[in-house]
Amino acid sequence: MPEISEPSPRTQTTLFKLQARQCRFIVSDEHSKAIFCGSETQEGSSWCPWHRRLVYVRTPMTGADAGKRRS
Ligand SMILES: [Zn+2]
Repeated sequence: MPEISEPSPRTQTTLFKLQARQCRFIVSDEHSKAIFCGSETQEGSSWCPWHRRLVYVRTPMTGADAGKRRS
């Protein structure tokens, strides 16, 4: 697996300046003034490799879990 480094704060941007192929992960604590990561994303992804990994860890979508929660 290639090494993934944390994106630079210099790429951070606001919703109004956010463009296609820029990471949409919100790095600010306050949602009233959302600051987005803004790092370059890979084709077809909404997040840079760093945040993409974070997002996937946070919300595991395994079949086993889905089955257990069924009531
Ligand atoms: Zn990012």
